[in-house]
Amino acid sequence: MATAPLQAVIFDLDGTLFDHDSSARAALRQWLPRLGAAVTDDLVDAWFAAEYRHFTAWQNGLVTFVGQRRGRLREFLPRLGHPVGTDDDLDRLFADYLTCYATTWARFGDVDAALAAVSRAGLATAVLTNGVDRQQLAKVRTIGLAGRVGPVFTAEALGAAKPHPSTYLTVCERLGTPAGSVLHVGDRHDLDVLAPRAAGLRAVHLDRTGLGPYDEPHRITSLDQLARYLPTGGRPSPDA
Ligand SMILES: [Mg+2]
Repeated sequence: MATAPLQAVIFDLDGTLFDHDSSARAALRQWLPRLGAAVTDDLVDAWFAAEYRHFTAWQNGLVTFVGQRRGRLREFLPRLGHPVGTDDDLDRLFADYLTCYATTWARFGDVDAALAAVSRAGLATAVLTNGVDRQQLAKVRTIGLAGRVGPVFTAEALGAAKPHPSTYLTVCERLGTPAGSVLHVGDRHDLDVLAPRAAGLRAVHLDRTGLGPYDEPHRITSLDQLARYLPTGGRPSPDA
């Protein structure tokens, strides 16, 4: 890893600070019975598969944000035997899902200690997330991180999504730090490690699910292990 003094840490949000997976699973346990469906592993897996496919299409500029939500439902509803209906019907159904989802938001249990270590090390922080302002900023507020993680940059506000190099470099610029002095931390190896590293940042893969890739030299499985990348391990430096 580069040797320039570290000045800042950029965190991804979903899957890194915000426990999207658990939140979405809890939301499905509320929402699926409202549609008359039993909550099964197959249905939950199908929901996440549709989410990944259509959200990625939005990230790649292939559909609108609303369009990816409708696309998820068009793919998912037939599995329940539920009619797909019109766009308005889909929007109402997705709003109902979001009502459930918003009651289940939570941060990961290792976030507080990691933020404290980053703060003790005297580093600036920011959040860089693929998503839209309204939802992502609401998540940060609801999970108790507003004012604790620095500025939040969304793909919507930046006009580009990760892995576009401009996203990482714009955040570095706004933080006033050279890219080589910034550590990017996130759960997606492609978006949060390979792309920022190619843009000149340092990067650590937060592999919470333990799925690898295992040849990634800077891989941690919990934010508790982030301290090893911080100056003095996240303890105050003697001259601080
Ligand atoms: Mg993520």
